[in-house]
Amino acid sequence: MGMTKNLPESVRYCIIGAGIHGLSTAWHLARELKARGAGDGSDIVVIEKSHAGAGPSGIACGVVRNNYFQPAMRELMAHSVEVWESDPEAFEYHAVGYLQISYAEMRDDVATIHEQQQAIGYESVFIDGEKATLDYMKGIFSDWRATGVSSVLHEKKGGYAHNMATVEALLAKAEAEGVSVVTDTAVTELPVNGGAVTHVVTNRGMVEVDHVVAAAGPWVPKLWEMLDLPDTTDIVVNGTTHTEPTWRFWALQEGTLGVDPGYLMNNEGGMPPVVHVDADAALHDEDGDLLVDGKWGVYYKPDFNFGGVQGGYMPYKVEKPWREVAIDPYGPASPDFIVGRDFRAVWAAALSHCQERFEGKAGLMSHAPSGGIGAFTPDSFPVFDTFCQNVYVIADSNHGFKMIGVGALVAKELVGETQTLLEPFRYSRYAEGRLHPVSNSPYPWS
Ligand SMILES: Cc1cc2nc3c(=O)[nH]c(=O)nc-3n(C[C@H](O)[C@H](O)[C@H](O)COP(=O)(O)OP(=O)(O)OC[C@H]3O[C@@H](n4cnc5c(N)ncnc54)[C@H](O)[C@@H]3O)c2cc1C
Repeated sequence: MGMTKNLPESVRYCIIGAGIHGLSTAWHLARELKARGAGDGSDIVVIEKSHAGAGPSGIACGVVRNNYFQPAMRELMAHSVEVWESDPEAFEYHAVGYLQISYAEMRDDVATIHEQQQAIGYESVFIDGEKATLDYMKGIFSDWRATGVSSVLHEKKGGYAHNMATVEALLAKAEAEGVSVVTDTAVTELPVNGGAVTHVVTNRGMVEVDHVVAAAGPWVPKLWEMLDLPDTTDIVVNGTTHTEPTWRFWALQEGTLGVDPGYLMNNEGGMPPVVHVDADAALHDEDGDLLVDGKWGVYYKPDFNFGGVQGGYMPYKVEKPWREVAIDPYGPASPDFIVGRDFRAVWAAALSHCQERFEGKAGLMSHAPSGGIGAFTPDSFPVFDTFCQNVYVIADSNHGFKMIGVGALVAKELVGETQTLLEPFRYSRYAEGRLHPVSNSPYPWS
C-alpha cells in the first residue's frame, strides 16, 4: 500500500471514483489533452474514497458481450470491444466469445440482434430450433443437455476479463500519463455556485475545480443528491407521463462452484465461450424438489481468478427507496433470495440442467462473499450527460464493466467533441420520450 497522495488546491478536471469509468476517463482524457497540446495528465485528479476497484468494478464477473436488443447499446459495446482488444494482455481480457442460448419467446429478439450485428460487422452466428441448438451445443460441450431452449446466438468476439487486473491496468495507464489518483479520500459535498460546481469538498480538504466527472458506480445517487438534482424523473411513454424514482437498486447474484476451472473446458480441451442460458423449463434440485417453475437465466465461465466455475443468476429488485439501502459493494453478501430459495442451490441446479458434468456438484458452491448491488436509472439504461454546467455524470445503470470504452468517448466530450455514440444516453430522453426498445429477456439490462 502506497502513501495517500495530497490533494491539490486546484485542478482542471476532478474525477470522482476509481472504478472502470473514472480510470478509463482519466487515462483517455490525459491523452486527449496531450494530443491537442491543451494540457496533460497533471491537469487531472481522481479522488477515490477507498482504493481503485473498491466498488463493483473490482467484483464484476467481467463478462464482455455485445448481445443487446437496443441498437444504441450494441454500437456502444462494439466500440468498447475495440478498447478491450487494444491491450488484452494488460486487461487480462480473454476473447473467448459469448453464447446467448434462449427460450422460444426470445427467439425473434435475438434473431434481430444477429441481423443487426451483421450490419455493424460484429461477427456472430445464429442457430435456430431446438434440435439445431442441442447439436450446436453438443459440438462445444459433449455433455450438453438443456431443455427449454431453442436458439443460440454465438458472438465470436467478446468474452471476459479479470476484474482487478483490468482496474490495475487502467490505473497504471492513467498514472503513466501523469494523472494523480488520490485514495482514501471521500467526496462529501459538491457545492453549486452560480449554477456550476466550483469546489469539490472532501473529508481531507477541498479542491477548486473547472470540471467534475461523477463516476461513483452505485454511489452515484449520493453525488446526484449533493448536486440537488431531482429524486424523481418524469418519463413520457406514448404521450403519457409517468413519474419514477430516479434511482433504484438491484441486487446481482453471483457465485463460484469450487471445481478446478479446467473442469469446464470445451470438447477440444480449450477455453469455451462464456455461456449465458435463458431457459423456460422447470428447475429441480438434486432431490427432485422443484426450485423454479418457469423462466430463469444463468451465466457461467471457467475462471482462474475466482478459482472455479463462476457466474450468476437473474438479479432481483431491492424494494426499499435507495436512501435506505446500505451500499455495500458485496450487497446482500449471502444471497438467500430467489423468493426464499438459496441462490447457490438454484444456480448449481441450473448448471446441472445444462450440463451433465455438474450433476451432484451443488455441495461444492463457495460461500465466499460474492454478488453485489447496482444503481439503476429509470429505464435501466445508462445516463451519460452533463449537469450543473460542469458535472459530467457517468451512471452506467450497472451495464458497465464491459464498457471500458465509455471513458474514451466521455474524454472527447469533456474537450468539446460531442459523441454520436453517447447521444442516445442523455437524461433528456425521459422527458422527450426517446426511450430504448424493451426486449423479452428476463434481465433488466438486455
Ligand atoms: C456482482 C456484479 C457483477 C457484475 N458483472 C458484470 C459483468 O460481468 N459485465 C459487466 O459489463 N458489468 C458487470 N457489472 C456491472 C459493473 O461492475 C459496473 O457497472 C461497473 O463496474 C461500474 O463502474 P464504475 O466505475 O461506474 O463504478 P465502481 O466500480 O463502483 O467505482 C466507483 C468508485 O467510486 C468510489 N466512490 C464512491 N463514492 C465516492 C465518494 N463520495 N468519494 C470518492 N470516491 C467515491 C468507490 O469507492 C468506487 O471505487 C457487475 C456488477 C456487479 C455488482
